[in-house]
Amino acid sequence: MSQSSSKGMPLHTQMLIGFVVGAALGAMAFWLGHGPAADGATAGAVSPWLHGVLTYVTGPIGEIFLRLLFMLVIPLVFSALVLGVVEIGDPASLGRIGLRTLIYIFSVSSIAVMIGLLAVNLFQPGAGVAAADATALLQDGATRTADIMAKGEAASALQVLFNIVPKNPFAAAVDGNLIAVMFFALMFGIAAAVHRTDGVTSFLATTQGVYDISLKLIDWVIRTAPYAVAALMFSLLASRGLVALKPLLGFALVAFGAMAVHMFVVFPLLVRTFGGMSPLAFFRHAEPAMLTAFSTSSSSATLPTTLQVAEERLGTPRKVGRFVCTLGATANMNGTALYEGVTVLFLAQYYGVDLSIVQQLMIVLMCVLGGIGAAGVPGGSLPVIASILVMFNIPAQGIALILGVDRFLDMCRTCVNVTGDLVGTVVVARGESATEPSAPV
Ligand code: ASP
Repeated sequence: MSQSSSKGMPLHTQMLIGFVVGAALGAMAFWLGHGPAADGATAGAVSPWLHGVLTYVTGPIGEIFLRLLFMLVIPLVFSALVLGVVEIGDPASLGRIGLRTLIYIFSVSSIAVMIGLLAVNLFQPGAGVAAADATALLQDGATRTADIMAKGEAASALQVLFNIVPKNPFAAAVDGNLIAVMFFALMFGIAAAVHRTDGVTSFLATTQGVYDISLKLIDWVIRTAPYAVAALMFSLLASRGLVALKPLLGFALVAFGAMAVHMFVVFPLLVRTFGGMSPLAFFRHAEPAMLTAFSTSSSSATLPTTLQVAEERLGTPRKVGRFVCTLGATANMNGTALYEGVTVLFLAQYYGVDLSIVQQLMIVLMCVLGGIGAAGVPGGSLPVIASILVMFNIPAQGIALILGVDRFLDMCRTCVNVTGDLVGTVVVARGESATEPSAPV
């Protein structure tokens, strides 16, 4: 995905400008539209001009951006999951390596999400928004927050299970019940992997087409993000004042800290214990891929470097590196899974939505699958995050808040994602002979 506009200014700079301009104008409008005495907690009647701007200008712009993100969720998640599972599960090619990779992806992504959730529960970056405010914010988002599942009262474990297995996959997609769609896609992928007829092969080619088209569309949507961020920030600050920004710093720090723990505690442990390699040597060799990931914010764009590092610098067998890194660029995203968990829980705190333990466990599962279903492009996880928010009745406008700091955190999580692919390669490669011929992947 290209990161520069036609004018040459990088997209993330444009997003930052959008964030600052929208926030500054919004704070000014809040002051003018509510009177100087107003603050976030006591904001009363809004003057007619501000109401007009919010309702007919910035509101619709932000709403359309969010709708565009939602629009892409089902085709993207379905195609990414089916293709991912088929690649893992193809018995003809890499059965043993595939199984070990699958176990690695699920277990290490779960650890990542749990670190993220633990950090948010511990530091509560989103707590402390005034109750009156939270109610007002919830009303703001109520128009869209679909009444799907996981509502305020804790769902029983059995209900949660029923929600995962859809009666009708199309109804689940229509309702935005992402977990059920993911389950369906997984089943579809497994069946496609074990039953390779001509028809299945052409279906998979079509699915690859759907995936490629979805990526192109995400590219286009993300290009409009600077304007959407400005509009969404304006709406947020004009209705709530500067107080709305306070928790953001805490969020960024918690997300960054949790990713650092995963990167510098979990990865070294895995490399040492299961990969039999010195963590220091690992990081030294992995550096080119880590830096490329950090600067491009795209696991897919980093793939050539990742492959080269796996084979030439880490010395892992070619077939393992090719398989784990190629699959990992879209399916093994520890940083993304962690970030999705942190964001969802942070915004739940921010908007005062209580989540039971069962619901938090559900979030872990959603984020692990979300890490597989997100695209390896800048902002690839945003559609997935938006959908998870809606599933748990958390206003999706919250995305506006995190978009302001998303670019930097995207660089960090992509770096974690790619490093995770290399850790996976080292772990899976242990015991595989380096001299085996490489498999065509
Ligand atoms: N930018 C990430 C990647 O390519 C995906 C995301 O979390 O948005 O790995």
